[in-house]
Amino acid sequence: MKPRCLRFCFLSFFGASFFLVFLVSFLCTTAVGAFALDREAFTFTRYDLGVRVEAEQRRLGVRGKIALRNDSPTPQKIAVLQISSSLDWRSIQAGDKPLQFVTQPYTSDIDHTGALSEALVTLPEVVAPKGTIELEIAYEGVIVLDATRLTRIGIPEESATRSDWDQISTKFTAVRGAGYVAWYPIATEAADLSESENLFDVLGRWKAREAAATMIFDFTPPSLRGDTSAPVTLCGGDELHPIKREGGSKLPSSQCSYQPLGLSVPAFVVAGYGVVDRPAITVYNLPEHAVAAEAYAEAAEKTIALITEWFGPSRRKAETADLVDSNAAPFESGSLLLTPLTVADAKLAGLVAAHQLAHASFYSSRPWIDEGLAHFAQALYLEQQRGRQTALDYMGLHRAAFSEAEKQTAASTPENEVNRSLVKTTNEELYRSKAMYVWWMLRDMVGDRALKKTFAAYRPEQDIDPSYMPHLIQSQTQRDLEWFFNDWVYRDRGLPDLKVESAFSRKTTSGYLLTITVENRGGAGAEVPLTVKFAGGEIGRRLEVRAKSKGVIRVETSAAPVEIVVNDGSVPESNLANNTFKIEPEQK
Ligand SMILES: [Zn+2]
Repeated sequence: MKPRCLRFCFLSFFGASFFLVFLVSFLCTTAVGAFALDREAFTFTRYDLGVRVEAEQRRLGVRGKIALRNDSPTPQKIAVLQISSSLDWRSIQAGDKPLQFVTQPYTSDIDHTGALSEALVTLPEVVAPKGTIELEIAYEGVIVLDATRLTRIGIPEESATRSDWDQISTKFTAVRGAGYVAWYPIATEAADLSESENLFDVLGRWKAREAAATMIFDFTPPSLRGDTSAPVTLCGGDELHPIKREGGSKLPSSQCSYQPLGLSVPAFVVAGYGVVDRPAITVYNLPEHAVAAEAYAEAAEKTIALITEWFGPSRRKAETADLVDSNAAPFESGSLLLTPLTVADAKLAGLVAAHQLAHASFYSSRPWIDEGLAHFAQALYLEQQRGRQTALDYMGLHRAAFSEAEKQTAASTPENEVNRSLVKTTNEELYRSKAMYVWWMLRDMVGDRALKKTFAAYRPEQDIDPSYMPHLIQSQTQRDLEWFFNDWVYRDRGLPDLKVESAFSRKTTSGYLLTITVENRGGAGAEVPLTVKFAGGEIGRRLEVRAKSKGVIRVETSAAPVEIVVNDGSVPESNLANNTFKIEPEQK
């Protein structure tokens, strides 16, 4: 099991233990007649939804409009709309006219229940490629704690609900979107957790299609019986502002928007939270976690100076909300972080806060920048608290997460190299963990000052080309970094594999002169730290070694050198077992 507590993780890491048989397309082919069913033909470009939650019944009711665009090369007569299997379709219309639709269960691990309620909608007319259609939809049902997709592949219930904690209940309501609970319509091919990367791929395709979409929902929170004060309602979108209803309802509805969606997962939370409000952060806690909330807010406040120094002043207030299960995996949606507030350890609170505050200070629509820097901020925090080695150890936990994905790159095609690049990937392991390393390596290469100036100069609205950020960094240094961006950012060339090929030393009048040749057998180049150890001390140097080539460096030492260590852990490598080179006494 991967180090889940330290990462904002996703589910693809669960090992498969048995094979799932899917109910596939027999029903569909009969329903669609002459048209082949392409579940991923339509992009949902706009959601405009009214959402009502009835906590006592655990019910969700949704009415609204969605706009679909045919992004396939063929005309489409059928639209596929999928919602969680615990929800039921009530009506689907176009221009006030009811449309015919067939509903069926569709087994897919994209939803926590392991299945979807799929509607195959016969459209009023064929939608040509690039054509659009607007549908009015209504559906409702319950959302209860359900981890079927995990328990059926052998994960114990208790662990499964730490990941799949979504639910509507009187005490606590938290519902996340695509990839957790299909509480708004989606359209994807079946995802299967028993195949290692399958859910990632399906979800990645969906998110990539939806990145430019907009979502707005009016949210009517539950009215709890005998409740005197309104529960706190939160969402991860840009704004959540109360809308005044005529008659002055006790519980006004709120609006939440994602414009655009980017890679965010729309989510909403309702609970009788207490509030700890500080200048840079608001922490919402369940009544039993008031002390932990104070500690979290305090840890966050202590982290602000470091974050501001690197990423500038905060653009908006960070929000953290408590989760019921104290072992629940954290989750972030836009500006909102959901994490259990039971951790009394201020160091861990500071580590989590560093990530969140980096988001509050710095924004980019590019995940490798936005998330990569938020994780980089966590490494900076650990370095400040406990030194460089602690930061490198922490990054090492992340390396385990993405080095598995990188193995596939070894036999990669040029097309894959581009699709899996940091500027294009939808794989969280790459745009979070790998990107964190990339930022750390850039910092080691260009220096803190140059990188801070880069961040200060960055304007998200001007970032319309993938080369915008690399050019900003390049403008702060005399060094040519194009090779680095090509190997790590524009393409996925896998990881370096560095080792000392040879080392020769000779005695000089003042000590020893050591000539070291470092070989890089990997597909990505790197500037790597080297440590030369000798009796009574050690010397550190840095050496640039391009992909599939060698670099040579000369180092003077005052006593006979005994050992060379290539890479202190700051460069992610495919093989870390060959990094130490002993210098035999007879070589001296
Ligand atoms: Zn983040």
